[in-house]
Amino acid sequence: MNLLTERDWLEYLAAQRTVNDPSAALGRAAPVVRAVLERHLNGAELSRADGEVLFATEGDDLKAVIAAADHVRRQRVGDTVSFVVTRNINFTNVCNMGCRFCGFSKRRGEAGAEWLDLDEIAHRAEVAWQRGATEVCIQGGLHPDLPGTYYRDIVAAIKARVPALHIHAFSPFEIWYGAKKRRMSVVDFLGELKAAGLGSIPGTAAEILDTEVRRQLTRDKLSARAWIEIVRAAHGVGLRSTSTIMYGHIDGPRHWAAHIDLLRAIQKDTGGFTEIVPLGFVHSEAPLYIEREIPGVRPGATLVEHLKMHAVARLMLAGWIENVQVSWVKLGPQVGQALLSAGANDFGGTLMDESISRSAGASFGEEITAAEMVQIIRDAGREPLRRSTLYAPLERYADHDPVALVPLKPRPYDPIQFIRPRRTAHSPNQAETAHG
Ligand code: SF4
Repeated sequence: MNLLTERDWLEYLAAQRTVNDPSAALGRAAPVVRAVLERHLNGAELSRADGEVLFATEGDDLKAVIAAADHVRRQRVGDTVSFVVTRNINFTNVCNMGCRFCGFSKRRGEAGAEWLDLDEIAHRAEVAWQRGATEVCIQGGLHPDLPGTYYRDIVAAIKARVPALHIHAFSPFEIWYGAKKRRMSVVDFLGELKAAGLGSIPGTAAEILDTEVRRQLTRDKLSARAWIEIVRAAHGVGLRSTSTIMYGHIDGPRHWAAHIDLLRAIQKDTGGFTEIVPLGFVHSEAPLYIEREIPGVRPGATLVEHLKMHAVARLMLAGWIENVQVSWVKLGPQVGQALLSAGANDFGGTLMDESISRSAGASFGEEITAAEMVQIIRDAGREPLRRSTLYAPLERYADHDPVALVPLKPRPYDPIQFIRPRRTAHSPNQAETAHG
């Protein structure tokens, strides 16, 4: 039985920051766990069954998994922790899809329903550019009145205003919806967006790529097969994507190992994924949790599950997907920072206004400025690097700081307070953002 508290784990991870050799931790692990890890450290790829073994670990066995993941991270990507200066623009929260994990969508005409016109979207992108952004990340609900051309028009409007900005936009669910509205094949629709200036797509809406779990989460509106086809098509037309997993609801180790194995198989074919972003399920506004429609639905992942997810993803994907990103908006800066000792090497984006998640109850949304990112990463004993969307290095901060900017919107908290002084991590109630 695992008797370690969250505080114990955070203190353990902080103490491990300077430990470079995993052999002591491996020596305390059970033989079956040690055998899997040693085989991997000697060059063997972890199988899906190996992944399940590692996901089942607790206590000293989990410490060995974390030590191995940290070791592999150091070997493959070094001590750099990257981030991207980006702005989230959620152009509408109106959506009729009714995903049961979604706490942010509204019905047309409901209080709080939003729709941004093209001029406002381009204006927000321009402000982001002036604040140092190299990227905008754009996702929205599947608004019933949305013309299929709106996706292309968003891209064109931003490019007309800020030609050099990288546009990272539209989940596979939105691509599916836009192509349907345009009566085009997914490949042609993606080609149209790319021609307009789309740079890459978020690999959200993956949730868990398991037919039964997915049917319960999304009523199978975007099937696992369709998600895979769209992502493969995007990679095929030269649009790279992130990859994601949403965990901590009705899922478990068997689904996690299978999901990561599937992402790895896609990557072996296409090479199109830039990173994996584990997304812990946040429950407070999710119908799935509130209405308890499905027996056994959990109130999100525990800290131990966050640790396992980032560590096992690092190990299973080694050699194929080299960037493991922490989603600070869901985890908070303190847990995000701790995960840098469990296989992660990227702190995601500055976001600027992750407003929909926040307005629906999220506690960590909105923004972490570049200067704060650098503080958090240095505080973890690592080397901050500003990167592009596609992981080209842009600026290292060995001897200087980023320009300190006032956050775009007033924030009810200071992210640095979460890491100095250290506190026990509690994840205050949060709400899920679009497309998982
Ligand atoms: S997750 Fe996306 S598609 Fe599903 S209800 Fe929310 S906004 Fe709509």
